[in-house]
Amino acid sequence: MTGSPPRLPGQQESPFSTQLMDRRTFVSGLATVAAFPASSLSALARTFPAAGEVHALVLGTAQDAGFPQIGCYTDRCNYGRELWAEGRPRFVSSIALIEPDAQRFYLVDATPDITHQIDLIDDDGFRRRAAERRPFDGIFLTHAHIGHYSGLDVLGNEGIGMAETPLFCTPRMAEFISSNQPWRFLVDQGRLVPTPIPFDTWHRLDDNLEVQLWKVPHRDEFADTVGFVFRGPSRTLLFLPDINGWHLWDKDAAEAVASVDVALLDASFWSMDEMPGRSMDDLPHPLILQTMDTFQSVVDDRLAEVVLTHINNSNPALDDGGPQQAEIARRGFTLAREGMRFEL
Ligand SMILES: [Zn+2]
Ligand SMILES: [Zn+2]
Repeated sequence: MTGSPPRLPGQQESPFSTQLMDRRTFVSGLATVAAFPASSLSALARTFPAAGEVHALVLGTAQDAGFPQIGCYTDRCNYGRELWAEGRPRFVSSIALIEPDAQRFYLVDATPDITHQIDLIDDDGFRRRAAERRPFDGIFLTHAHIGHYSGLDVLGNEGIGMAETPLFCTPRMAEFISSNQPWRFLVDQGRLVPTPIPFDTWHRLDDNLEVQLWKVPHRDEFADTVGFVFRGPSRTLLFLPDINGWHLWDKDAAEAVASVDVALLDASFWSMDEMPGRSMDDLPHPLILQTMDTFQSVVDDRLAEVVLTHINNSNPALDDGGPQQAEIARRGFTLAREGMRFEL
């Protein structure tokens, strides 16, 4: 990796962080306007929650192994290095749920970029809580692939030494974490408290938030895989970063996505061109082009805002200003970017 470490919004003394905030607001504004070309102000409010409102904050948008990826020196990955050097990196896909008034914070997926990406939670209350070693009211894990849980490793003695925190996941995932080192050590020490939740039923987290787990088909070598639906005081958000294919799901994909207000969905690959020699049958993710076809009517009818995330390092949608990003915007979809906020 080249260049200086990322400069993030909390580092207000950095001239780059101001630049970062401005650019983010600008970029997410563009994305929102593109997503709702004939929309009213109420649609614009979707990505700009007012101060104090419960919201989701995008902490990362890349596939498990990050952007750039290890040992990858293509022009695209080198652009990823430039983004880090300029203080506007892409991190591995994750969101935080933030309740500013109640000062409650949740993390959804613990990625290899956890140390840097939680700095995007630009709230003094969060930093106070981190100093007290209890930054989160709970941590959610979608599944047992490295980009989604390996960030737990810095929550123990070597790192923050986190105090007792609920770990919300499926029963199988709870069993996996509780019985395999080094995660088991965090459980045995009482830092992580596995809290399994059954599928398809609302589970209340606190006064403002509920969650539901939707099982999704994925490569389940160690445990199973879910998408989380979060329901806040006014809106619902689906976080579903990995699925083998929309047609393999036991839910009607368009119907499921139309039932929420915002859906952050698996956008690992753009097209088969990225995977020379591979067939659709052994590609473990939908293509963005298929995803846009699957959910075009949902977007056109303004039933949900569809936000594309979990982007592989081969995906040309990572090229800022490129034709793929223009196509995503033209079709009314949103490409996820770190710092975007969605009211809940
Ligand atoms: Zn993944
Ligand atoms: Zn996965």
